[in-house]
Amino acid sequence: MSGRAATVLPPSRALMSQARTLVDYALVRRRTLTSYAAGRLPAGDICDAQPYLLRAARYHGEATGEECPVCHRAELVRVNYTYGDCFRADANGRARATGELLGLAGELSEFTVFCVEVCQDCRWNHLLASYVLGTGERVGRRARS
Ligand SMILES: [Zn+2]
Repeated sequence: MSGRAATVLPPSRALMSQARTLVDYALVRRRTLTSYAAGRLPAGDICDAQPYLLRAARYHGEATGEECPVCHRAELVRVNYTYGDCFRADANGRARATGELLGLAGELSEFTVFCVEVCQDCRWNHLLASYVLGTGERVGRRARS
């Protein structure tokens, strides 16, 4: 497979300077794409974005400027899913814009971000990274929407 390697991280330098417990899935992603290119993985196994993820990509996806490595027809978008005890139950797992994460990181004690890339054309999707943001304070704060 040709083409430049995707820049998996960072979504923003300011954000990454605050991230803790970063797990980068770039290697897993590369392995998956290599297996696909070699014919060891059918497209159906890797292009399986569920409707809720496609909807999140449509409404909350952020442009990456990168072409989909599978279909080469569409631009990938990234979706940040946020989980943490600091969120209200109905807001836990919500997709949020990168800009919003920075604000929350300075306000909330601790939450985890799962950054997923999605192609809305062929439904390729892959977890890019997970990381923890927040002030790290132990004090419980009012749950956020
Ligand atoms: Zn695609």
